[in-house]
Amino acid sequence: MSIVVDNISKQFGSFKALDRVSLEVREGTLVALLGPSGSGKSTLLRVIAGLESPDVGTILIDGRNTTHLNVRKRNVGFVFQHYALFKHLTVRQNVAFGLEIRKHPRRQVKDRVEELLDLVHLRGLGDRYPSQLSGGQRQRVALARSLATRPQVLLLDEPFGALDSKVRKELRAWLRHLHEEVRVTSIIVTHDQEEAMEVADEIVVMNQGRIEQVGTPTQIYDHPATPFVMSFIGPVNVLPNTARLFHDNGLEPLNEEVFVRPHDIHVQTSANGVKATAIVQRIIHLGGEIQVALALTDGQTILANFSREQFDKLKLTYGQQVFVKPKAAKSFPLPKSLL
Ligand code: ADP
Ligand code: MG
Repeated sequence: MSIVVDNISKQFGSFKALDRVSLEVREGTLVALLGPSGSGKSTLLRVIAGLESPDVGTILIDGRNTTHLNVRKRNVGFVFQHYALFKHLTVRQNVAFGLEIRKHPRRQVKDRVEELLDLVHLRGLGDRYPSQLSGGQRQRVALARSLATRPQVLLLDEPFGALDSKVRKELRAWLRHLHEEVRVTSIIVTHDQEEAMEVADEIVVMNQGRIEQVGTPTQIYDHPATPFVMSFIGPVNVLPNTARLFHDNGLEPLNEEVFVRPHDIHVQTSANGVKATAIVQRIIHLGGEIQVALALTDGQTILANFSREQFDKLKLTYGQQVFVKPKAAKSFPLPKSLL
């Protein structure tokens, strides 16, 4: 079922939480709403769910206008960060809950619950109580419960936000897998760009109640539409166009601010035509990659990332002088208001 968000605005007092937001989620896709805290992600999700009603605009689910339809009539599944399971019910009873209140036949409920426990890999744990499960297992039960009634749409609001990073990573991979099996049109809210890149077919980047860009993870990373997206998706060095990193190397950027990704900083230990210099300030080992903080001669510190192989070749040490040049850089036209 596709979801169409058309020109939605929502204000809380004088604060615009959503400002003319339009978006189309194609049937069967998994889309991530990504943005900093307060950017309106949860509000948009709640408007789609029918938990919040918009001031203006329309929501269409599968072509049907659901803007003012009661939440119970929308057939939407939810998982929240703290969607507490019923503590006094077993896993099996939790998963069966939605089916039982809708008075599905007993036999059917039993079969469906077993099918779902298989789907979320909790087959042996049906008789446990939530307190006897790990955080990751509880969120999988919450997912099974939300899928029980075969929702048209699945909405997840920071579902793994309360879990530690290892479990979060496992659950992301698992959610992606699950989505490939179930193919229910899904929207996941997250403030974690890595999470969005890993699970979603498409990412919607939000900032201050507006959509900055919609695209595949690769489009968003390689072709960010705005300075905000460039800075939010992955680490970036922001330099003034007057930086010696550019001028000493004969580069003349047009716009005031220039963005260079850490892996686009080229470093060599002898000049060989590269004129800008820097001092190695810090070396940080990030698993497979090594990040080096470099103090430029005009005072700014930039980050450069290397593969282990590149780093081993360079043999950098603290305090060493190196020669630096950007391999790639990006700048954006200034907003009209500044011209
Ligand atoms: P996000 O999920 O991106 O962190 P939210 O959609 O929850 O952001 O909130 C966006 C903004 O709207 C926040 O500044 C928040 O304080 C405000 N807000 C959200 N819900 C309400 C509400 N019910 N009443 C007043 N302000 C709200
Ligand atoms: Mg939120």
